[in-house]
Amino acid sequence: TKREEEEAVRRSNALEEDGVDTLRKVSRQEYLKKREQKKLEELRDDIEDEQYLFDGVKLSEAEYREMRYKKEIYNLVKKRSEEADNTDEYRMPEAYDQDGGVNQEKRFAVALQRYRDTSGGEKMNPFAEQEAWEEHQIAFKFYGRHAGKATLKYGSKNRKQNSEDYQFVFEDQIDFIKASVMEGVNFEEDPPTEDLEESMAKSVFEKLQEDRKTLPMYPYRDELLQAVYDHQVLVIVGETGSGKTTQIPQYLHEAGYTKRGMIGCTQPRRVAAMSVAARVSQEMGVKLGHEVGYSIRFEDCTSEKTILKYMTDGMLLREFLGEPDLASYSVVMVDEAHERTLSTDILFGLVKDITRFRPDLKLLISSATLDAEKFSDYFDSAPIFKIPGRRFPVEIHYTKAPEADYLDAAIVTALQIHVTQQPGDGDILVFLTGQEEIETAEEILKHRTRGLGTKIPELIICPIYANLPTELQAKIFEPTPEGARKVVLATNIAETSLTIDGIKYVIDPGFCKMKSYNPRTGMESLLVTPISKASANQRSGRSGRTGPGKCFRLYTAYNYYNDLDDNTVPEIQRTNLANVVLSLKSLGIHDLLNFDFMDPPPAEALLKALELLFALSALNKLGELTKVGRRMAEFPLDPMLSKMIVASEKYQCSDEVISIAAMLSVGGSIFYRPKDKQVHADTARMNFHTGNVGDHTALLKIYSSWKETNYSTQWCYENYIQATAILENEVMVPTGMVKLDWVRSMKRARDIRDQLEGLLERVEIELTSNSNDLDAIKKAITAGFFPHSAKLQKNGSYRTVKYPQTVYIHPSSGLAQVLPRWVVYHELVLTTKEYMRQVTELKPDWLVEIAPHYYQLKD
Ligand code: ADP
Ligand code: MG
Repeated sequence: TKREEEEAVRRSNALEEDGVDTLRKVSRQEYLKKREQKKLEELRDDIEDEQYLFDGVKLSEAEYREMRYKKEIYNLVKKRSEEADNTDEYRMPEAYDQDGGVNQEKRFAVALQRYRDTSGGEKMNPFAEQEAWEEHQIAFKFYGRHAGKATLKYGSKNRKQNSEDYQFVFEDQIDFIKASVMEGVNFEEDPPTEDLEESMAKSVFEKLQEDRKTLPMYPYRDELLQAVYDHQVLVIVGETGSGKTTQIPQYLHEAGYTKRGMIGCTQPRRVAAMSVAARVSQEMGVKLGHEVGYSIRFEDCTSEKTILKYMTDGMLLREFLGEPDLASYSVVMVDEAHERTLSTDILFGLVKDITRFRPDLKLLISSATLDAEKFSDYFDSAPIFKIPGRRFPVEIHYTKAPEADYLDAAIVTALQIHVTQQPGDGDILVFLTGQEEIETAEEILKHRTRGLGTKIPELIICPIYANLPTELQAKIFEPTPEGARKVVLATNIAETSLTIDGIKYVIDPGFCKMKSYNPRTGMESLLVTPISKASANQRSGRSGRTGPGKCFRLYTAYNYYNDLDDNTVPEIQRTNLANVVLSLKSLGIHDLLNFDFMDPPPAEALLKALELLFALSALNKLGELTKVGRRMAEFPLDPMLSKMIVASEKYQCSDEVISIAAMLSVGGSIFYRPKDKQVHADTARMNFHTGNVGDHTALLKIYSSWKETNYSTQWCYENYIQATAILENEVMVPTGMVKLDWVRSMKRARDIRDQLEGLLERVEIELTSNSNDLDAIKKAITAGFFPHSAKLQKNGSYRTVKYPQTVYIHPSSGLAQVLPRWVVYHELVLTTKEYMRQVTELKPDWLVEIAPHYYQLKD
């Protein structure tokens, strides 16, 4: 990681030299470094006497000896429990040092503290674990880092063996300071509980109908309907979980609005659109896809019957292209407006416009945060309907010192909560930044609890992120079985889009993944960035839904007040706008600089988008849409991919190119690489790269070979490309989850390809195959991706041509060892280096031939 860090620093320096001070956010590494420095400074203040000092705790020689003694006992117990378990997999905490997580000295210091607590003559309360925990939290405020009482139980004769084991099992502790309490709003002391027998007797449907009536939204049903009746545009504000997304469309349907057209409700995220639609179809007792459906890119789960349609904001934007007045809708609800995604922001401008000439269209803007005035102002002072929320008080805890490794800290905190709190008293929600991180956390949690058997209560780990297969998403909503605890590992999606009942503890590392864009180079990257205060407060609020909650922020109060921005910068101000500009242009909106943006994007980014679209020949010199541009806009793809498809007409290889585009759109890895058969898998993979054809062609070969076998499962299996049939039980194991994704990948590629084929027809491009002329296919790729070309340097790195930057071929590429002189790449990903992913060799003459206007400027 040291190398990684150096690399990050080098990179950020390089970025600065490149003039990338426009990036408003620092990288994760920079931020962590800053945190680490602060931590060191704080520690240094603690050190006065070097003698017998452990992790900032001083001790006398006698204490030290006693401590050694305790350590011996500790080892003994450890040994005994190892023998008892008698399994190879059983591992005690220090084993995790290999993972870099835990440090022996710290563990020692904790043990020491335990010793002090038990021998210091202080009064103990061996009965109330809960109380001890809370005291522990408060104590830090007054006595500092090691004054906690959570470890009181150690050595207490009254305690069960079990509980002692907890202490040995998880030595790591993180110190928190209870800083404040977020006041509850309209909370009842006792959340309503239902007689078990009574509830069992009811049908699921009846139960759902009753649940609907307990939502905070319900008492305001009639008032809301009246307000919608009275006003064309309404801004609706209410706490997450009050029932905005699931209930409002149903109320409107019940009130008859669906007689005149559909009710459309937009969501910033695919998962939310699907999950909410599924929930509402259940509540209405209809089949998903019939009366209630959803529409996300490449997946339309609606029918003729559909009256309530949940969709991503991007999909509604695309619907404008086919139906500029949204005639099939009677109500449009732009939900989660506070998220301010790029598509939502553009939708604002468009829906505001059509309300003027469609007085019958009702427009609802709903948001989970209180800055509703801004929405109201933008929509010509539309009235604001506030749903009085319901939230129990939430205690906010900060770490005493910044945590260098938030992932590890999050895991330690989760386990700390799990073993010290009554099982069944509430679930844990951990906010992480993305799929990879969530999978890592899941693995570590499994690893650390493995083999502990009944020593700790059952911990059910539930991941949720955008690409999680639908079948597995339902798991997070299932009630936690008695005696167990659920820990939900979620991305930002759980901040406001999804409500998971029963959460009592929130762990907030303070980061999220955010897109950032450098308009000068046109390069976009996803960076792990500190969240805003608004986000932090949303996250905390998640813990107080069904009872008083606690939020553990893995940063200091100082960080919160001084380092976090108040609000998240809207996406429109930190993203590539090429796609949006193309859509707006094809909607006939020419004067982009004067478009009614709620917060306008930087002029520089707009110009950059225009420049790219001009280079791709989608716009002419006057900034008007060309025929190429009009065709490109039909494809729900990034402009470079659309251009590649449109250009395939000229090279007579549209058949091959849409297969490549479909495979690229699926993204991620299609290859299955089981741990015990990596060599086989790699050989199989390299077969598709024979002749160093490049990654695009390899993807094409995979697709065509699969098609030749009539989409055979067996073929996938033999080639370590995930097969289509998967046993149920395989799906439920963690690695099986990945497998399921792959199944979907190949099937999805086929689906997407079918749709692209349909769109080809619409833009009147014939489906022609030219599979023997690889150069023709590569030229079509180059016609779309020429702005992504790079030239080999002496040291094996590459230099991007247009805006020079040093990049590398991703190790997973078939060309990683070949290093052609010139390449064109699909995308850049930033991990330890800036890597090009999906790379194909290119002849430099092609650049001049295909894009003379772009590359002649160079020399
Ligand atoms: P809001 O949009 O105001 O945040 P929602 O309408 O999304 O609120 O959620 C209302 C309630 O519906 C939640 O508290 C939750 O109990 C329930 N709910 C929502 N989605 C699901 C789902 N997919 N599965 C189970 N329950 C759900
Ligand atoms: Mg909602």
